[in-house]
Amino acid sequence: MSTIWQAQQILKHKFGYDNFRLEQQNAIQCTLDKRDSVVLMPTGGGKSICFQVPALLFEGLTVVISPLISLMKDQVDSLRSNGINAAYLNSSLSANEQNQIMQLARNNQLKLLYVAPERLLQQGDAFINFLKEIKVSFFAIDEAHCISSWGHDFRPEYLQLARLKHLFPGVPVAALTATADKLVRKDIIDKLELRSPEVFISSFNRPNINYYVEAKKNYFEKLVAFLSKHKNDSGIIYCLSRAGTESLASDLRKDGFDALAYHAGLEKGEREKTQERFIRDEVKIIVATIAFGMGIDKPNVRFVVHADIPKNIEGYYQETGRAGRDGLHSEAVLYYSAGDVIKLKSFVLITDNAEQTKILTRKLDQMAKYAQLTTCRRKYLLNYFDEPAPDTCGSCDVCLSKYELVDATVIAQKALSAVVRLKENFGINYTIDFLRGSKSEKIREEHKQIKTYGAGADISKEEWAVYMRDLIAKGFLAQTEDEYPKLKLTERGKDVLMGKAEVQLAKSRVVEETKPAQRTKAEMVYEKELFELLRSLRKTIADSEGVPPYVILSDATLIELSAYLPQSLTDIRKISGFGDVKVSRYGGDFLDVVIKYCKRKDIGTRMELKQPKREKKSTRPVMAEDGSYKNTYQITLDLHRQGLTIAEIAKQRKMSATTIAGHLAMFVETGDLRADEFVTKEKINYIRNLIDEHGSLSLKAIKEHGGDSITYDDIKFVVSEIRGVK
Ligand code: ADP
Ligand code: ZN
Repeated sequence: MSTIWQAQQILKHKFGYDNFRLEQQNAIQCTLDKRDSVVLMPTGGGKSICFQVPALLFEGLTVVISPLISLMKDQVDSLRSNGINAAYLNSSLSANEQNQIMQLARNNQLKLLYVAPERLLQQGDAFINFLKEIKVSFFAIDEAHCISSWGHDFRPEYLQLARLKHLFPGVPVAALTATADKLVRKDIIDKLELRSPEVFISSFNRPNINYYVEAKKNYFEKLVAFLSKHKNDSGIIYCLSRAGTESLASDLRKDGFDALAYHAGLEKGEREKTQERFIRDEVKIIVATIAFGMGIDKPNVRFVVHADIPKNIEGYYQETGRAGRDGLHSEAVLYYSAGDVIKLKSFVLITDNAEQTKILTRKLDQMAKYAQLTTCRRKYLLNYFDEPAPDTCGSCDVCLSKYELVDATVIAQKALSAVVRLKENFGINYTIDFLRGSKSEKIREEHKQIKTYGAGADISKEEWAVYMRDLIAKGFLAQTEDEYPKLKLTERGKDVLMGKAEVQLAKSRVVEETKPAQRTKAEMVYEKELFELLRSLRKTIADSEGVPPYVILSDATLIELSAYLPQSLTDIRKISGFGDVKVSRYGGDFLDVVIKYCKRKDIGTRMELKQPKREKKSTRPVMAEDGSYKNTYQITLDLHRQGLTIAEIAKQRKMSATTIAGHLAMFVETGDLRADEFVTKEKINYIRNLIDEHGSLSLKAIKEHGGDSITYDDIKFVVSEIRGVK
């Protein structure tokens, strides 16, 4: 019987990590209990650990379904570098190689086998029969949203996976994805026919990514200035058109940057070569269309720039999410121009499909709104995905901006009265031109007769734009959802117009740099020169083994080495990312470089600064009723303490009773609550007897023996109490 304690040991010794992250531990526990699960975690959250750790604890084989051949190889290389027996089967291998791998599986010499979904239907049922022949303990389905036609990346081959639960009824299935709204989530459960799965949702916040939006005016100079600050970093620049990627890449090369273009129009061989060079840290900057990125797992992408505005928030979040998978500080920059949005509007018009056009137009407007925000961008993004967030994040350009606030009651009155005079029938640009008394023919003759025409001529167009956006953000004006949004006066606006309220508006702003202290904890003070030495050693080893550098060690690990300066293999063991195999394979080589460096610089170790890192048990933070920001478990506990039943809490929090019971069971395990607060004494005794009798803490096994008089939740409470005592 595997326990979380054993899982911790695997995490430390095989992967070199001290603590589980996000919902990893709960997801692993669920799989060890042989139950189905859906695991939602943002990119870089650590989904792989959720199936790799159970795979090593189960006796038989774990089959991982993964859609991308390029990623399979990477994952398998990474596992092997940690001394784990893993392999993949796909069309890139010869028949002979495939047979060898299947033989390994038959001999129980493989722990993980990666396959593409189409393999399940190949050659009639030959592959299924092969799986039946060996003992499959667990199926992990990566990129599970591909099964849903509601998602953005539907792959019909995934529909075949519905057969798994029929063919292997007792084998637990975990479906993992980084993108799944409620609809997709439900679709995953239905299509895979998962049996009362547990759903684990981690926060989608990416705290190590800073978000910036800048006006596109003179953007090339701005971009060059930005890239100059990132000389040694890898990054991706997204453009909308293929031609755009080529011309920008060539301009950047002329300015001395190491940039290559990538788009679907390039020949396959060239595309693969470019991608490979990027992964191997041989070219720093890729200027790409959105065709680039799907197949890459490169963890040390330090920045993602959007030279053109993307068509929707989903795409934007996915693309920016490719930065900072390793958890280190990273940046996302968008260059915005209203003109780009207008250009895109014609792209989202779908002939003969008014419905679809409307949806896409709305998504584009939401994207444009993001670019124009005067409130926290991170909050907007998280709220877009139905996740609550505090009002300020401290790490987007808005939160980092110092606005010069001015008393702008008179200015506001001018703007608001212009909107009224124009009969709430015009958009921001027209209204500004009108206020400034533009002589342009665009302004209607009859409007030129109105008193407010030209009333704001003393204020520049740019300044007006800032004021207008702030008036909208602060709720004095609203915009319609039309293709060309019109300005409307709100109730608050009326008060200002009638002189009943005063207004302060943002005039100009300066974006401050994030101070290192505000950055992620992982970004500690470290020896930059040593880091570069270690990086080049890593590159040499990676090349000799024919794998990408990050398969050997991550940037985060190199940073720890150059921060703590270990002097022995015992020290090295404490560095995150050094599992047992990596210590014995590479520990000595890296240690040599560190020790030599310390001698040369005459500095000593700083291992004493290294404390076993307690990764935050960061479950999705939720806004509580009083407006404070709490962990979702804590909120459930509070409601329980107020005397609400599980059903009542579930109703109030719009969550399933099972989820609520799961929260409370966690507190039973920690000893804050007791099982008999939820389960009758008789049932507790009955369940305890079953556990003793069958020697198992597996919820599923107990349920099978216990029958219908007890529920999974009952068992969970009792088991949690027993675990807590241990
Ligand atoms: P995802 O598939 O969710 O995008 P990965 O599984 O590729 O994320 O993990 C991202 C990075 O985080 C990897 O470098 C991985 O080794 C690292 N990682 C995962 N879990 C942990 C953990 N518990 N502690 C430290 N690092 C971790
Ligand atoms: Zn913010």
